[in-house]
Amino acid sequence: MSTGHLTIDLAALAANWRSLNALTSCETAAVIKADAYGLGADRVAKALAKQGVRTFYVAMAEEGAAVRAAVGDKAQIRVLTGHMRGDTDMIADLNLTPILNTIDQINRHFEALPDHSFGLQLDTGMNRLGLEWDDWAAVAEAALRRKPVVVMSHLACADEPDHPMNPYQLDIFHQMTDGITTPRSLAATGGILLGPDYHFDECRPGIGLYGGLPFEDARPVVRLDLPVIQLRDLTAGEVVGYGNSWQAERPTRLATIAAGYADGLLRSLSRGAMLYHGDTPCPLVGRVSMDLITVDVTDLNEDPAALAFICDAQPVDSLAQSAGTIGYEMLTGLSPRYSRRYVG
Ligand SMILES: *Cc1c(COP(=O)(O)O)cnc(C)c1O
Repeated sequence: MSTGHLTIDLAALAANWRSLNALTSCETAAVIKADAYGLGADRVAKALAKQGVRTFYVAMAEEGAAVRAAVGDKAQIRVLTGHMRGDTDMIADLNLTPILNTIDQINRHFEALPDHSFGLQLDTGMNRLGLEWDDWAAVAEAALRRKPVVVMSHLACADEPDHPMNPYQLDIFHQMTDGITTPRSLAATGGILLGPDYHFDECRPGIGLYGGLPFEDARPVVRLDLPVIQLRDLTAGEVVGYGNSWQAERPTRLATIAAGYADGLLRSLSRGAMLYHGDTPCPLVGRVSMDLITVDVTDLNEDPAALAFICDAQPVDSLAQSAGTIGYEMLTGLSPRYSRRYVG
């Protein structure tokens, strides 16, 4: 088999949810947008539902179908982008709960589905989604009378605990919502780690569930093994790959591996990335191509059948750092071409 192989540890996922849940005394939902950060919303949602998760967040209404099929009728599935034009049937049929972000969305929702559940998002300074002060002041009373399931906002800098934006947004959120009886939610993974002031009635972690920073105590959830297609010996001075970007300085045993930028292995990994054979690092050499990479395995005692790119020796955030990005992007870029095995 020439596809890379992803191993997704559902026991570690469940343990991460329990650890985050244990840090708060509020409800802990789960964010499973973008196919659960690339790991498979269906399996992830099922595993988390078994832990007692009752509230799931997706980004778009379309993502709700797989989740609804996985978790049954009782769980609440909330849509972060809200109620978009054309979504009404899907929202009704799948019983999704849109998080309304604008006056337009509020009007659309109340007209199309007056008795249907909804939540509200407020902007506290990130300037991405949610109602601003003036709009909120104009609609708060009428909207709250219809009993939203949550009033939420989102932190822009929660992965930096000392950032002044955190207490600033917290203060704005208080000013916008103190005194209401609707459940409130502000914290994603980073916000949970900022402490109880940020927890309110519900936290909504994503990345921490999947083993990513800023949740440093997370158990790794993903392992990626890539098969070796061909091995060859180079003499010193031979060159490798597109653009001849790497030249052997010594006699080199070179492995060609079946995965490339079409599989989420960003081309920016061409500089300095490592693959692992057990604990032994093997440098990626030459450019990442679409479906292939080349690796210097000279220092191994045996010819490898496969090398790991995400493993205990190189968690997803370390790989992301080599690529100049973050764990979120690495995970959501994981290829649909990889075969997947769920353990735990
Ligand atoms: C993605 C997202 C989350 C989850 O964030 P993590 O950093 O992955 O924990 C929570 N809330 C909103 C609004 C989001 O967009």
